[in-house]
Amino acid sequence: MERYDDGFAEERQRIERLVEEIIAGEHKIDKLPNSSAGFTGADLENLLNEAAILAAKQSRRYILQADIDQAFVKVGIGAEKKSKVISEKEKKITAYHETGHAILFHELPDVGPVHTISIIPTGMGAAGYTMPLPEKDEMFNTKSKMLETIMVSLGGRIAEEIIFGDVTTGASQDIKQASAIARAMVTQYGMSEKLGMINYGSDDDEVFIGRDLAHTRSYGERVASDIDSEVKRIIDECYAKAKQIILEHEDILHKCSALLIEKEKIGQAEFDRLFTGAEEKSAATE
Ligand code: ZN
Repeated sequence: MERYDDGFAEERQRIERLVEEIIAGEHKIDKLPNSSAGFTGADLENLLNEAAILAAKQSRRYILQADIDQAFVKVGIGAEKKSKVISEKEKKITAYHETGHAILFHELPDVGPVHTISIIPTGMGAAGYTMPLPEKDEMFNTKSKMLETIMVSLGGRIAEEIIFGDVTTGASQDIKQASAIARAMVTQYGMSEKLGMINYGSDDDEVFIGRDLAHTRSYGERVASDIDSEVKRIIDECYAKAKQIILEHEDILHKCSALLIEKEKIGQAEFDRLFTGAEEKSAATE
C-alpha cells in the first residue's frame, strides 16, 4: 500500500474507503488483461489496488486507463523517485543506456514497440527503464523472439561502450537476463544444434529439491563446458548483431538521449518521430 505523507488520518480514511468502493464496484477496464501478461493473481490485486489509490486521490469512483498505466509502472517496475539527485554525467549515461535498449526494441520485429523510456530512477534501484507495449499473453516463446530479447538486454551496455568507451555496473541485471535466456535456450528448450534436444536440467530445480548440485547433475564435465561455450556463442552473436543495429542508428542514439536528458521521460509517439525525421519541438502528445 501507498504511504501517505500528509499525516491526515481523516483524508487517509476517506481514500481507503474510496479504494474499497472502487474495488468492490463493477468498473470494467478493457486493457487490464493485456498490460498484465505474466502477472500472478497477487500482482493483479496489487496493480488494481494501486490504480484505485490513484483514482481515489483524485476523488474519482472509477479507474481510468491512465491509472492502470501509472500503476503498472509502479508495481511492475517500482515507484519513480523524482526526488533522488542524479549527476549530469549519470543522467547522460542512463539516457544513452536506455536509448540502446529502445533502438533495438524498435528495430527488431518480434519485440517492442517502445511504450515509454524514462531516466527517472525507480524505487527498485534502476537508474531508468525502457518499457515495451504490454504484449499479448502468448502460449509460446519462439527462438527468434528469445534471441531478440537477448539483443535488447545487451543494448544498454553496447550504447555505453559506443559513446563513452567505458562501461558501468548499471547493466548487471541486463547481463543476468541475457545469460539466463541463453542458458535456458541451450539446456531446456533444445535450441542449440550442438547440444541437441535434450533437457540438461536447471540449477533452479536442483536447488529447489535441495540436493547437492554436483551429485544430481545428469551430465559430465565435457557437456557442462559445451553448454557454457554455447551460451557464450549465443550471447556473442547477439552482441555483434545488436551492436551493428545500434551503430546504424547512431543519429537516433544521440537525438533520443538528448531528448531524454531534456524531458526525462518520453512516450511512443515522440520516440517514433525520431525515426521518421519529422522532429517537432513541441510539448508532444504524451
Ligand atoms: Zn539496461
